[in-house]
Amino acid sequence: MKKIGIIGGGAGGLITSSKLAKDLSGEIKKGDVSITLFDRKKQQEFQPGYLEVAFRGEKPDKIRRETSNLIAPGVRHVISDCKNVDLDNKMMETEDGKKWDFDYLIISTGSSPDYDQIPGLKKANMDFHTSASKSSLIYSRINSMSSGKIVVGIGGLPYKCPPSPNESAFMLDEFFTRKKIRDKINITYITPFTRVYSAEAINKVIEPLYKSRNIDSITAFTTDSVDPEKKELVSLEGETIKYDHLFLTPPHKTAGFIHGTEMADEDGWIKTDKKDLHITKHDNAFAIGDTTNIPISKAGVEAHLEGVIVANNITSEISGTGERFEFTGRTQCSMETGYHQATFVIGTYDTPVQEINPSMKNYMEKKVMEKIYWSSLGGHYEWLFKYHFKNDYFSKIS
Ligand SMILES: Cc1cc2nc3c(=O)[nH]c(=O)nc-3n(C[C@H](O)[C@H](O)[C@H](O)COP(=O)(O)OP(=O)(O)OC[C@H]3O[C@@H](n4cnc5c(N)ncnc54)[C@H](O)[C@@H]3O)c2cc1C
Repeated sequence: MKKIGIIGGGAGGLITSSKLAKDLSGEIKKGDVSITLFDRKKQQEFQPGYLEVAFRGEKPDKIRRETSNLIAPGVRHVISDCKNVDLDNKMMETEDGKKWDFDYLIISTGSSPDYDQIPGLKKANMDFHTSASKSSLIYSRINSMSSGKIVVGIGGLPYKCPPSPNESAFMLDEFFTRKKIRDKINITYITPFTRVYSAEAINKVIEPLYKSRNIDSITAFTTDSVDPEKKELVSLEGETIKYDHLFLTPPHKTAGFIHGTEMADEDGWIKTDKKDLHITKHDNAFAIGDTTNIPISKAGVEAHLEGVIVANNITSEISGTGERFEFTGRTQCSMETGYHQATFVIGTYDTPVQEINPSMKNYMEKKVMEKIYWSSLGGHYEWLFKYHFKNDYFSKIS
């Protein structure tokens, strides 16, 4: 029997397990293949929905689902924290001390805020990158405000969903404009980059919106420390900014069991082949989604597309078809710009990010993706993904 283990049942892990279960259903029925999905949590959250919770008051329960209801038939679900992975001996260990062997392993344990990198940030900041419950605290805060200065933006690199700090600035502008107190609220966006969006093509599109909506921006500001008592941010460049409310996107880190191992690079991200997604030196182990060191956005779309490619390659190896697929680095992150408008950050390894003007059509497309999100993790919308991405997210090499 071939044993396939998947650690992490979020955006990447779930679609990978669903695709494998569907494509290898015959082998699973015969007892030739088993698929086990490990996740430390019983529930999943739709993370892009954190913005709706924080800035529009969406209820946290609306963006949560029980993982057991998302898992495809034929996949075994183990709720446990992975503590250790030994790729050389094809073994992993869960928190209860149990050891699990595997023939193929996929690591999709995502990324999470790392407050230890910036002194003072944890005490001072409220973020919308940790959980739905934490995001809802921001909504309570902005509802109680009648004046003041909010500082939003990029608190450190890397982080997931590159457009999300910009989206928070636009959504705050809309929120206070609708409340008719926008003139009493200062919104200041900070970023370590030299422009409000790192990719020039998107910056060109959104920078004029910052000006027309009176959102201040401070570029080349790399947050070094925060003084929660004085309510001050200090940058590596030597600048100081005062704030009344701080909603920064913190720098992110990988899961603890990866740090300091042979598979991790010096910052803790998994050394992953950017084309077939195998972990360096291990042809039977793969990493997908946020946890990789692949030089593209950390986003759910990437986790999904990478998971499909890995599932296809494992399936063809087990069933002996000889087909091989490689990832092209296709990214597609939506950026809401407020007032039912959105743009997209689209590119591949070989194609730079394109200039796309915000429109209601883009916003509707974003909303459609949100509606189908949970079903898409079950593999029910691969036909739409193929149509939408026009197959340019993979190349067939044999
Ligand atoms: C505010 C916000 C807005 C976003 N907007 C977008 C967007 O518009 N478009 C987009 O594509 N993406 C967006 N994203 C990013 C997207 O949600 C993530 O990039 C995506 O979820 C990454 O998928 P993943 O499978 O790598 O990790 P995740 O979906 O985070 O899943 C990781 C899983 O691993 C589990 N896990 C972690 N460690 C362990 C362990 N040791 N043992 C067992 N299980 C473990 C976790 O419990 C979790 O279930 C947004 C994110 C945020 C926060």
